Amino acid sequence: MSDRQPVDLLIRGGTIVTVDDADRIIPDGAVAIKGMEIVGVGASQQIQVLYEGKDEIDATGKVIIPGLVNTHTHLAMTIFRGIADDMRLEPWLDKIWKLEGEFASEENCRLGTQLAFIEMIRGGTTLATDMYWHIDDTNNVAREMNFRLVNGPIFIDFVGPDGVAPEDREAVARKILANIQDDQLVHPCVLAHSTYSVPEELLKKAGEIAEEFGALFITHASESMAEVQTVTEDSGKTPIEFLDALGLLTPHTLLAHCVHLNDAEIALLAKRDTKVAHCPESNLKLGNGVARVTDLRAAGVTVGIGTDGAASNNDLDMWGEMRSASLLQKGMQHDPTALPAPQAFRMATIEGARALGLEALIGSIEVGKRADLALVDFEKTHLNPVYDLYSHLVYAVDRSDVDTVLINGKVVMRERELLTIDETAVLTEAKAVGAKIKAENQG
Ligand SMILES: [Zn+2]
Repeated sequence: MSDRQPVDLLIRGGTIVTVDDADRIIPDGAVAIKGMEIVGVGASQQIQVLYEGKDEIDATGKVIIPGLVNTHTHLAMTIFRGIADDMRLEPWLDKIWKLEGEFASEENCRLGTQLAFIEMIRGGTTLATDMYWHIDDTNNVAREMNFRLVNGPIFIDFVGPDGVAPEDREAVARKILANIQDDQLVHPCVLAHSTYSVPEELLKKAGEIAEEFGALFITHASESMAEVQTVTEDSGKTPIEFLDALGLLTPHTLLAHCVHLNDAEIALLAKRDTKVAHCPESNLKLGNGVARVTDLRAAGVTVGIGTDGAASNNDLDMWGEMRSASLLQKGMQHDPTALPAPQAFRMATIEGARALGLEALIGSIEVGKRADLALVDFEKTHLNPVYDLYSHLVYAVDRSDVDTVLINGKVVMRERELLTIDETAVLTEAKAVGAKIKAENQG
């Protein structure tokens, strides 16, 4: 007879990088999971006395981390990966919007989202913040694959591939938001593309709806120099000033990019407690520059990390993104002490969660939080010897080192095998859709 409390899953024997407030690292640690929740975290010896797992995972030789949090992406753009490279943002957008008009159908968006989730699960990412079309379909894919998603209706000044005209966006937005209330995996937000692609009235409306539904407001801001110039010429205000004038800079606002900010704008974002999604590789690839991440952080702004879409990065690899974020600050400032590894790792986990207003739920391994975890296999020659875990996690781990992934308490990848999707079927479909796009795009 055991008087141990039964739990659904017990992970034991791994080194736990908790990313909690005390920054605890637990060698030979165990995590007990019941339903969606973490109910026990501690030394294996202690936890094993208290809990008995219906299922157990031996994590010996592995490092258990909070799942990585991708604070900005365009999921289904995976179907356009590599189709528009080495271009400036503005002609790139023109080309992408034209392609989306032709090919961003419901079916293709479902496929693109599946491709994105597969790539992210395989790389230890357990949450994505999307901005794309056919939101209900994307949310359904998240539920089917058990992937955590921040998503919601989009506002933009043209009839999108979803067939919705700007004047109908509000009604559609309400319907979409009504479908994501009290969802365990999909967290609501309201998306406005940018200050240059959404008229003032529609931006205000998007902000009002976000407030009404208690949802995060997300937009692109100050991504390129051309954007800042255009908006300033048109309105007399920078994109940041423009958003503030509309009352849209709040603690529940997340701005993607923020590459071109002056000191006053950084101070303003800090004062408003507005959050930032830093997308270093997309900013590099589109030639937009490098965001002032250490200045933002020093001012007290919460900064998460995002991959941006697969057509401007071109991967959805949060490890590469974390490393780039750290190396870029060092290189730009000629200062190797800028954005050290533990800080970069926090940005990809708990700070990302905070940027999304989800820090009470995810982002660290603590009792009471949802079990969104990744097990990283450290039994690799490129990861031994180990002197500092954060150093390896930020500068040396490759996404293929991720062995097992849990989202909301459920194992979605075990020993590299995906459990919530038929990967082969998705691959076959991706090839077929790609061939069609290629043929029509050239024709
Ligand atoms: Zn974006």
